[in-house]
Amino acid sequence: MSVSVIASARRLVVKVGSSLVTNDGRGLDHERLALWSAQIAKLVALNKEIVLVSSGAIAEGIKRLGWAKRPKALNELQAAAAVGQMGLIEAYERSFRVHDLATAQILLTHADLADRERYLNARSTLRTLLALKVIPIINENDTVTTDEIKVGDNDTLGALVANLIEADALIILTDQPGLYTADPRKNPQAEFVHDAVAGDPKLEDMAGGAGSNVGTGGMLTKILAAKRAARSGAHTVIVSGREPDVLARLAAGEALGSQLVAAQAPMAARRQWLADHLQVVGKLVLDAGAAHALKAQGKSLLPIGV
Ligand code: GLU
Repeated sequence: MSVSVIASARRLVVKVGSSLVTNDGRGLDHERLALWSAQIAKLVALNKEIVLVSSGAIAEGIKRLGWAKRPKALNELQAAAAVGQMGLIEAYERSFRVHDLATAQILLTHADLADRERYLNARSTLRTLLALKVIPIINENDTVTTDEIKVGDNDTLGALVANLIEADALIILTDQPGLYTADPRKNPQAEFVHDAVAGDPKLEDMAGGAGSNVGTGGMLTKILAAKRAARSGAHTVIVSGREPDVLARLAAGEALGSQLVAAQAPMAARRQWLADHLQVVGKLVLDAGAAHALKAQGKSLLPIGV
């Protein structure tokens, strides 16, 4: 049995999904939050730096507003997020207080990360909070996001945050034990994937589109998040958040869930930001010579050559 990559990871992003946080939409699961915060406190005591990316605002908002089902209209989803985020953050603040840990709320949009200045500001604030041993709790700023500027799901947001703070690993806590070679609900031959290389295209075929109806992401968004996280050298572990003592056991080296290892050398931070956030507004056609110089020789394209 291999050793978990989390054992040697110092800076971690932990992403928790809506189904777990809200007990499948029934309402904030305070007991589970208490279990996670106790484990995170142990990791902080081991000198690990933890950033939490938590979903659940919309699910909790729907519950608090007494709506029977998830609305489709964007303005209603945004209203639900605003209501639910209050409960979410209050619950985290309370559960970390028990362990003498302060929390900080950070709401981000894709537009914040795509703007170089705001991106650098977010990075410096997060680094400062980590140095102060505060637990940043991040969610997408759903109330102001539209389709154009939305990250869309918190698996992706977790990966972007892992890139942003150059985390060693991303742990995605979900309501499934991890990744299977096929959907185990439909295919009895499905096998559990213990170890794989993040970004391996075979993983995307395995993941399909399966997901719950409480949150947004399915297994595919998690696989793609692992691929994205690997760009800055972060490993990803997809594991059940209901597994007892899951974070502490991973930190102790126990290989739980599916571990998707970053095999490539991390891209330089600025290049990676460009790759992630640059919005394409035009097209440049290169001749074969220029393409070769850029790709094979790693040279730059100068204005004189355009
Ligand atoms: N930001 C959304 C929320 O807090 C969740 C997005 C997701 O489930 O990935 O409700």
